[in-house]
Amino acid sequence: MISTLLIANRGEIACRVIETARKMGIETVAVYSDVDARARHVDLADRAVRIGGAAPGESYLRGDQIIMAALEAGADAVHPGYGFLSENAAFVGAVEAAGLIFVGPSAEAIRAMGLKDRAKALMADAGVPVVPGYHGEDQEPGHLEVEAAEIGFPVLIKAVAGGGGKGMRRVDGPAGFMDALESAKAEALGAFGNDAVLIEKYVTKPRHIEVQVFGDGTRAVHLFERDCSLQRRHQKVIEEAPAPGMTEDVRAAMCSAAVRAAEAVGYKGAGTVEFIVDASEGLRADRFWFMEMNTRLQVEHPVTEAITGVDLVEWQLRVAGGEGLPVSQGDLAISGHAMEARLYAEDAEAGFLPSVGTLEHLRFPEGVRVDTGVSEGDVIPRFYDPMIAKLTVWGADRRAALRGMARALEGTEVAGTVTNVGFLSRLLAHEGFQSGDVDTGIIDRDGAGLVANAPMSEEARAIAAVTALGLGGGALQGFSLWAPLSHFVGIGEDVLRVTPRAGGADVEVSGQLLRLVSEVDGWRVDGEKVGLRAMRTSGGVQVFGRGGGFVALADPLARGGVERKGAVLAPMPGRVVRVAVSTGDTVREGDVLAVLEAMKMEHRLLAARDGVVGEVLVRAGDQVEAGLELVRLEDEA
Ligand code: ADP
Ligand code: ADP
Ligand code: MG
Repeated sequence: MISTLLIANRGEIACRVIETARKMGIETVAVYSDVDARARHVDLADRAVRIGGAAPGESYLRGDQIIMAALEAGADAVHPGYGFLSENAAFVGAVEAAGLIFVGPSAEAIRAMGLKDRAKALMADAGVPVVPGYHGEDQEPGHLEVEAAEIGFPVLIKAVAGGGGKGMRRVDGPAGFMDALESAKAEALGAFGNDAVLIEKYVTKPRHIEVQVFGDGTRAVHLFERDCSLQRRHQKVIEEAPAPGMTEDVRAAMCSAAVRAAEAVGYKGAGTVEFIVDASEGLRADRFWFMEMNTRLQVEHPVTEAITGVDLVEWQLRVAGGEGLPVSQGDLAISGHAMEARLYAEDAEAGFLPSVGTLEHLRFPEGVRVDTGVSEGDVIPRFYDPMIAKLTVWGADRRAALRGMARALEGTEVAGTVTNVGFLSRLLAHEGFQSGDVDTGIIDRDGAGLVANAPMSEEARAIAAVTALGLGGGALQGFSLWAPLSHFVGIGEDVLRVTPRAGGADVEVSGQLLRLVSEVDGWRVDGEKVGLRAMRTSGGVQVFGRGGGFVALADPLARGGVERKGAVLAPMPGRVVRVAVSTGDTVREGDVLAVLEAMKMEHRLLAARDGVVGEVLVRAGDQVEAGLELVRLEDEA
């Protein structure tokens, strides 16, 4: 029995482990780096110990610090989560040498599976089919080139110590081989300190199907398969279980091969056996091959939990505490279909650049399992994986799960940072994915269409304009005083005219007049519920839902920089206090053009861009209506 558990990780996985430990009455100890002092996992744990600086090398990879923290906290076990030290055999040895339980496999099992070349040799001996290729000792480039030609192009060069898709290069013909080899080796050396590679036949129309296994050190059971074929740069994006199109025959063949693999290394705890599958003619029992074994809990384990009803972390803690396998194979069955999507703070349009920012708002809809390591108000630290959450849905069948995931993504509200939620929604709606005809090339092939954000709908832009003015919800009543005066709001390239009414507003957008009515759970446009919600953020307006998006705002009150066809407009009705420029003046973005008094306050109207003043149309003391032209700005010669 484990009574106190230290979790040597951060983020969603640390939170997820803590939740199960809690449920089992186990005391929990978190560790944290300086930037994580107030992170969600620290908050959830019973106690927390600081282990060092923000960079992983100064904290979450410091095995010595972590073991010291465990001993000082009186922990009797260490759960490594995934990533960081989870597959580090030396760390396992050190944990055990300190008299602590490592929640996971033995150091020997990790070592046996740690290098892909050795693992493949071992698996071939155990009768598990392995990808055809070269995984020998001789690393001489000329020799590898000969081996590649013998295997037949296309081939895949892989770092033997690889992980997370690093150190991997596909080569389509002999001409590109040497360059690819060199760059794969350089990347492998940088990432893993080991530049040895193996060469594999590149499987055409590849699918990634993996089997969840669980062992007690001698015997193992499987918890069926997951399909992780939706990948970008060899990294999983959406995962599901069971695999689309799986037959009982192929499942039996794959799952029994996985159990053989686990038993061959005396596997203890949760692990994953990954297979590459040639799906060019559907799934066949002789067309799958062992790729690697991940000797830890996997990011995508929730889909397996959703279809089996098993809490894999509970099993991990029970087996690590000395119990045998909780069930036998016959007790396990698949129920329904599950999907997981990885929600990231990243900008798909900008080449999937991690984005920074404060999570000003974070809401998830009902009916979805959310695994997250952040809370509203948190800053996404730039030192770690920018994952916001994993969303997992379950449905009676695949169609139901697809619908559930679409709803989950549409109902997800994140403001303050760019996310990949639009990308995930488009991927989910992809025809091939919808029909279950998946392979690992989908994202690369159809990348452009999946990556580019759809333009915001007219309804969404109208709602953004109204929200930018602080209208909506309770604010509308107050504003009805101003009716029927109009306001002008710049949304992207357009200037929208907003005329508030009691309970809503009329918005002129692209020559069309939309009638908006504010309701508790969103907006009605021309009488129809549109499923869009919006909020002001520090930089603009975020509209949630289909057709939504983010608009950066030059704050109409602080900047007044609403411009239409070269004319700077009064953003609201008021009195001109002062005109700060004359005809012919050169102005820079941010210069004061005029000062307007409105709603008993003075507002400086700033130039939204550089230019030359062509004409001044008002004088101090003038009373102006919203939308009146104040100053004309021309481009500099
Ligand atoms: P999966 O996503 O299927 O669990 P990955 O291989 O993508 O498997 O890795 C899972 C996590 O482990 C990710 O957070 C990844 O960044 C991390 N990771 C994978 N390999 C390594 C490695 N060699 N060193 C450090 N972290 C790794
Ligand atoms: P990592 O340790 O980085 O996870 P893997 O060996 O698991 O490396 O491969 C990562 C991904 O690369 C797979 O999920 C698959 O999409 C692709 N891949 C790997 N081997 C092959 C292959 N022989 N043919 C085609 N695709 C492959
Ligand atoms: Mg892998």
